[in-house]
Parts: sequence; structure tokens; C-alpha cells
Amino acid sequence: MVKVPFLDLIQQYKDHKEDIDKEIKEVLDSASYVLGPKVKEFEQLFAEYCGVKYCVGLSNGTSAITLALKAIGVKNGDEVIIPANTFIATAEAVSLNDAIPVFVDVDPSTYLIDVNKIEEKINKNTKVIIPVHLYGQCAEMDSIIKIANKHRLMIIEDCAQAQGAIYKGKKAGSMGLMGCFSFYPGKNLGAFGDAGAIVTKNETIAIKIMKLRDHGSIKKYVHELIGLNERLDSIQAGVLKAKLKHLDEWNKKRRDIANKYKENLSGIGDIILPDELSHNEAIYHLFVIQTKFRDALSKYLNENEIATGLHYPIPLYSQEAYKHLNLSSNNFPVTEAYSKKLLSLPIFPEMTEAQVDFVCNKIKEFFNDKKN
Ligand SMILES: *Cc1c(COP(=O)(O)O)cnc(C)c1O
Repeated sequence: MVKVPFLDLIQQYKDHKEDIDKEIKEVLDSASYVLGPKVKEFEQLFAEYCGVKYCVGLSNGTSAITLALKAIGVKNGDEVIIPANTFIATAEAVSLNDAIPVFVDVDPSTYLIDVNKIEEKINKNTKVIIPVHLYGQCAEMDSIIKIANKHRLMIIEDCAQAQGAIYKGKKAGSMGLMGCFSFYPGKNLGAFGDAGAIVTKNETIAIKIMKLRDHGSIKKYVHELIGLNERLDSIQAGVLKAKLKHLDEWNKKRRDIANKYKENLSGIGDIILPDELSHNEAIYHLFVIQTKFRDALSKYLNENEIATGLHYPIPLYSQEAYKHLNLSSNNFPVTEAYSKKLLSLPIFPEMTEAQVDFVCNKIKEFFNDKKN
């Protein structure tokens, strides 16, 4: 194994094996493998955790956003505003509803949607804004809510990277009409396979999502609308239930590591560190720095057995999948420059102090060698 992996899910399982195995065994013994009591238990706990009334468990985060848009009737020709810097799933969910993703450039210090550039993209076809709480930090929700109210738009939060992130005392997912979560294994709260959820305060919406995830049906044999199969399975719900108890402690550990990185790497080379706004409590799903020596630094770290990542090196407007939108990179200067300079360093709750020091020292070494 490398000296510093990007994350360590094996260690996380070892640390909580007894609790997780017990939850899985209960599912195996019950033979209730899809939805069922275990999913209900998790839904209740996660709704409480997010400070909302309802949580509907789903098969993954992409289907969460897709169903959220479907539930409010987004259709062919509608436009949905999303940040230019995000994982492709945010845009795909829009496209899968035959609507058009409208990209907005990001803020250079937080990499979150630039709220000053949203209104110029709004027209009569605009229906929804999807703020993405990228890397674990909440977008500027007060401004987004103000814009949405003024133009009568709905807000769907993409919380795939923000389980437990806080904005002015409010949990990610509790501020828009819906909050969409992914529990992909590598997220801060991760299942042992694919999983996702929608949280909402709105009962009508919660019921609609419950129908959409299960063939338009809540009552057996009765199909009120054409739905899909996007149900959460019970083993995943059990794993998530066991892990949810530790989420706050894990997020705190990530914050401590982020602070240590910030202390150690400030002023090193041309590194720009991620900015956390004072009213935010970010959960550091990723710790993303910028340097114009990105490729060389990443190679150097990898040679020294330190894993790194890129989130995201090819912006969505430049992807083959979105070629038909004919967008120019000139319209997204921040995302464009950033895509060439960003580098994600390892960060995970089980990361040791020695590992953090090792990464910092190798980065310092890299920039020292540059000077000589
Ligand atoms: C992971 C992720 C998703 C998609 O979630 P899946 O569970 O992988 O489908 C959506 N948006 C963002 C920002 C993500 O990071």
C-alpha cells in the first residue's frame, strides 16, 4: 500500500466493523433487502440529522438530483442554473430531464458558484438553481435564496460532497426545496456500494419522490404515475445507519487536518489554499490547493507514494458530452484557469498526524528543490 492513500475505507471498516456487521446481519436475517424497516430507520435518522422532516432513500446521488428535478416538473426547454465547476452528475440530472444546464462561473476564492454572475443567466425559461456545496463547503445560500425569490425560481441543493456541512447554523440540504445526497463509498458518509437520498421539509414533495423512486407506487399494486426503480437497498441503509453516528466526529477530524495543512502550507511556493468563509463550517470532503506547478507537484507526490486527485481537470463545457451546447471556455475564466491549477491532497478521518506531516514536508521539499 502507498504511504498516504487518498482515503482509507479499509481502516474505517476495521474501526467500526462490529457495529456495521451487526446492521448487515440484521438485514440478511430479515430477508428484507430493498426499502423495508432498515431504510425507514436510516431515513428518519438522516432527516433528523439534517434538521428536516423527510428523507427519502434512493439508489444514488445522480438519481436524487434527477428525481428532484422531475418531481417539480422540469421539462424539455427549461433551463437550470448550475456552477461550471462541479462533477458531471449535476449537469446530467438536468439533461436527463431534457432541460438545459446553464453554467455559471465560480468564485476564485471558494470555487463555489459566483452569486454575482447568476442573474445575468436568468431568462423566462429558467426554472431552478442548483447550488453545489463543492468540496464540503456550502454555497452562498442567502444570496441564492434572494435571487431565487426575486425571479420565482426553485432551489435544489447538490449536497453530494456536503453531508453535515453548515451554513449560518443550518445544515446542507435544509435550505432549498430539496437537498440531494450521494452516499457513494468515497463521500464523507459512504455506503458499501451506491446509495443516495433526498431530504426536504415539504411533505408533498417527499411523497412524490417516494412514488418516483418505486414505479409510481406507494401502495402495493397501485401505480399513480410513471416512475422508475431508484430505491435504496437495506444493506446500504444499515451501513449508513451505523456510520452516521460517527459522521460529526469524522468531519471534525477532516477539519483538523485541513487546518494543519493550512498552517503548514501557507506561503509555500505559489500555493493558494482553499478559503473557508467565516459563517461556514466546511466538512472538507476534498482539500484542494492551486499551483501552476500542478502536474509536476502531483507527479512528485505520487513518486513519493502520496496519492492525489483532480477535481475537476476538464470543465463540463469542454467535455465531449456537452459539445452540443457550443460553449466557449472564455466565458468561464475562473473555472478554466482553475482546472489547470487545482490539486486535491489526501484527506480522510483516519489520516495520521505523521501522514499529514509527510505530505507537507514533501510539498515543501518540492518547492525548495525548485528554488535551487
Ligand atoms: C458524487 C457526486 C454526485 C453523484 O452522486 P452518485 O452517488 O455518484 O451518483 C453528484 N454531485 C456531486 C457534486 C458529486 O460529487
